[in-house]
Amino acid sequence: MEKKKIITIDGPAGAGKSTVSKALAKKLGYIYLDTGALYRALAHKALKDKISLEDTSALAKLCFNTTVSLKNIDGKMVVLVDGEDVGNKIRTEEVGLAASKISAFTVVRKSLLNLQREAGLQGCIVAEGRDMGSIVFPHADYKFYLDANVEERIKRRYNELLAKGAGVEYQAIQKDMMARDYQDSKRKIAPLTASADAIIIDSTGLSAEGVVEKIIQHISYHFAFKG
Ligand code: C5P
Repeated sequence: MEKKKIITIDGPAGAGKSTVSKALAKKLGYIYLDTGALYRALAHKALKDKISLEDTSALAKLCFNTTVSLKNIDGKMVVLVDGEDVGNKIRTEEVGLAASKISAFTVVRKSLLNLQREAGLQGCIVAEGRDMGSIVFPHADYKFYLDANVEERIKRRYNELLAKGAGVEYQAIQKDMMARDYQDSKRKIAPLTASADAIIIDSTGLSAEGVVEKIIQHISYHFAFKG
C-alpha cells in the first residue's frame, strides 16, 4: 500500500470503531491512534482530583497542568499522563461518560488538538474518534463513519464489559449510551457528525472482519492494495 496516508474512522460509542480501527491498522501495517483515550485520560485525572466536570476554569487549569503524550508501542499510540501509562484505568463507563462531558469544552479540545495532528504528521495512521474527519484531519486520505443501530451498540458494549469481568447492568449501559449519544452529537464544538466526504458504513449485523473488508474494498478502489 502507498505510504503516508491518514485514514479516519468516526462514529458513536459502541459502533465498533476500536475493534475495526485496530484490525485495519494491523492489516495495513499502520499506527492505530485512539483519540477517545486522550479525552478519557484527562477525564480520569479530573475524577481522581475531584475536579468539577462542568467548571471551565478548573478544566483549563487541569489541561494546563497535565502533560498528555503519546508513545508508539507495537503500532499502537499509548497515552501517557504526566509520563504514566494510564492503561485500563480509563476503560470504565464512568470515565467514558466523564470524557464525554469534558470533551464538550473548547479548552479541553484545544489542549489535545496539536498532539493528535502531530501524530498524524507521521502518516500511515488509522485515527479513531468523533471529529477525526471533520476537524482534526480534514484532509485525510480516506474518511469513514461507522454506525450501528442503538440496540446493537448497547448490546456490544454490554458484552464487551461482561467479557472483561465487570459487573454491569444492561439498563445502566443503555442509560450511559443514550447520555453519551446526546452529549456527543448535541455539543456546540466538534459534535459527532459524518463529514460530507466520509463513507458511511452501517455495521449492524456485520462482524468486525466484515467491516474491515468493506473498508479495504473502498480503499482498494483508489489504489492497488496488497495485503
Ligand atoms: O471513543 P471513546 O468512547 O473512548 O471516547 C470517549 C469520549 O471522548 C466520547 O464519548 C466523546 O465525548 C469524546 N471524544 C471526542 N472526540 C474524539 C474522541 C472522543 O469528543 N475525537
